[in-house]
Amino acid sequence: MANTATCPECHLLDRVIRVRSVYSGGIASGTAKSSAVGVTFTGDRLAPTVLRGTTNSISQSDLSKRLEPLPAPTSSIGLVAGIGVGLAMLITILLMGKVQAWPIYVILVVSYGIFLSSELRRENFRRTILMPWYEKYFHAWENLYYCETCDIVFAADSKMVVRSGGIDNLLFEFVGRKPQYGGSR
Ligand SMILES: [Zn+2]
Repeated sequence: MANTATCPECHLLDRVIRVRSVYSGGIASGTAKSSAVGVTFTGDRLAPTVLRGTTNSISQSDLSKRLEPLPAPTSSIGLVAGIGVGLAMLITILLMGKVQAWPIYVILVVSYGIFLSSELRRENFRRTILMPWYEKYFHAWENLYYCETCDIVFAADSKMVVRSGGIDNLLFEFVGRKPQYGGSR
């Protein structure tokens, strides 16, 4: 893939930048200066004073936000929590094993099994379907270009063009929509 590309709208390449460069360049930590005019009493007179302040901030430009890719899918919290709850249950059962309440344990274990297997299916979906999709999505995002003159996003090997706010429409065109767990939901 070429390092730069010609804009399909203005047919120039001098203001074409990779989307990922614009994105990371738009996240900056900086110092903002502010000033305000106030009035103070000095002796028996009112005198104007200029108040100055500085704030340290991490800011992200609007453009950078518009070019931001979707976040990587992470493991569901349910799975992590589920394993913790399961361990706690196991310890409880082992400690209280002498108590004659085994029907409760059976119910607990069965319902826990149902819960955990659904969480495992969800995790399996993430690993086998969602992550491979996301890798393609991210790869496609890395190959997008942005033209500053036209405020459009495009890929070097496609005729499709979108405004900077609509990059997902372009990416979904290349890699399909984000797969949803449980079919068409
Ligand atoms: Zn252009």
